[in-house]
Amino acid sequence: MPGTQAIVIGGSIAGLLAARVLSEYFDMVIVIERDKLPAGTDYRPGTPQARHLHTMLIRGEQALCRLFPGFEEDLKQAGAVQARWGLDNRFCTVGGWTPRFDSGYRSHIMGRIRLEYLVYARVSALANVRFLTETEVTGLLTSADNRQVNGVFTRSRVNQMEDRLTAQLVVDASGRSSKASQWLTQLGYPAPQETVIDAHCGYATRWYRRSDEFSPEVIAIQTRPNAGLMRGGGLMTVEDHQVVVTLMGGAGDYPPTDEEGFNAYARSLADPALYEAIQQLTPVSAITGYRRLNNRRLHFERLTRRPEHFLVMGDAAAALNPIYGQGMTKAVLEAELLQQLLQGRDVSKLVGLAARFQRELAKVMKGAWMMATGEDMRFPGVEGATPWLGDRIGHAYMDWVAQAMPSSQLVTKHFFEVMTLLRPAASMMRPATLIRVVWHNLRAIGRGRNTPALQSVEITA
Ligand SMILES: Cc1cc2nc3c(=O)[nH]c(=O)nc-3n(C[C@H](O)[C@H](O)[C@H](O)COP(=O)(O)OP(=O)(O)OC[C@H]3O[C@@H](n4cnc5c(N)ncnc54)[C@H](O)[C@@H]3O)c2cc1C
Repeated sequence: MPGTQAIVIGGSIAGLLAARVLSEYFDMVIVIERDKLPAGTDYRPGTPQARHLHTMLIRGEQALCRLFPGFEEDLKQAGAVQARWGLDNRFCTVGGWTPRFDSGYRSHIMGRIRLEYLVYARVSALANVRFLTETEVTGLLTSADNRQVNGVFTRSRVNQMEDRLTAQLVVDASGRSSKASQWLTQLGYPAPQETVIDAHCGYATRWYRRSDEFSPEVIAIQTRPNAGLMRGGGLMTVEDHQVVVTLMGGAGDYPPTDEEGFNAYARSLADPALYEAIQQLTPVSAITGYRRLNNRRLHFERLTRRPEHFLVMGDAAAALNPIYGQGMTKAVLEAELLQQLLQGRDVSKLVGLAARFQRELAKVMKGAWMMATGEDMRFPGVEGATPWLGDRIGHAYMDWVAQAMPSSQLVTKHFFEVMTLLRPAASMMRPATLIRVVWHNLRAIGRGRNTPALQSVEITA
């Protein structure tokens, strides 16, 4: 008897996680990836972002460990550096440095390639998951009436041979370059509406080697668009004595990729900590740039007509400005959603799943989307969105939060919870936080200090 089969397009983080979940419900899962896998420790063309700093937020790591029991041990074995939030992570925000304290939160820091490899290793060990690599999906195979997707067309990148594969469910996790909209229109369906919010942000990244004496910290110097500073940067100590440094700029103030320009940009940040840290490190890579960092969302949830049995997730559905480090965590949350929706379902009867999945996915990613686009709206010249009064009040309040953080462990802890997607942004308004934030800032005003938040309210009023 032929069993049930699912196809996943794309073998990166979202695709691997989708395959892990589908393996619980389908007899066979085929992951189709255009690159050669496993990439091991090599960069591969399909994920050029892997050269840049990648953080898995606490919420994402927790969910990963649920999907792959014992994953924390995998991380440790592979040399991931454990960060104690508050002690090892130093954030320089508009109010100054976050206080040194143990928030109780922990997460592991690792280069993106190695992290993806660990996930790949777990998924490829599943008996009913197969990888079809160096193979590109070129279109969707449908039933005669086009109402149901029942497979994909493929082309080998090795010998250009074209083929087709059938399945009860097809999940597109092919990232920003997904052709899902095009495939839908080819089948006579409307393309999803697209929202793009672009703060014209860019990255430049270099990898370094550290000595044993180098303090294994995370340093994050944030951009301060409200204070006129478009530049920021992050430094992370990862496995194998490596350190990754990414400089970030918004409003078109892109960090350069030549050595002199890179170092000058690092020196120009609002705080010297990152530049000073680089002086203690030995460069081991060229400097790589990345400029396609907009927030782009395809509203599959709004489609009134769609083929059944076809889901879109990960960056293919919504890609976020990575400055806020949410993309991989969002992919884990979407995999969890898929798991919830498939639980107890007969996978040979999946009519209605596609609409429900895309509707629920829009809810699951709402917090991350609002956070990334809300912050991006602060950059001058941002395209695709105009902050309304509610956004401006939100920005002013978050500036007050930043002012309060250096002297309040509680406010900082709550900020960590929001930025790592453990809690929704609205939780920054819970009474204990609100009282401290307002108290701190009113006291500062009483002492005659005008906070950036007040300045931004004055400007925008
Ligand atoms: C510069 C940068 C920095 C980032 N930093 C962070 C960070 O700090 N933290 C974080 O959580 N996220 C970060 N992200 C986002 C993160 O990389 C993605 O959200 C994450 O990789 C999940 O993406 P994905 O699996 O949906 O797509 P991708 O990672 O883009 O993978 C898509 C895969 O599909 C394959 N593919 C594409 N088309 C086809 C096809 N037709 N047939 C077969 N295979 C195909 C590609 O080869 C690729 O392997 C960053 C992104 C960028 C650009």
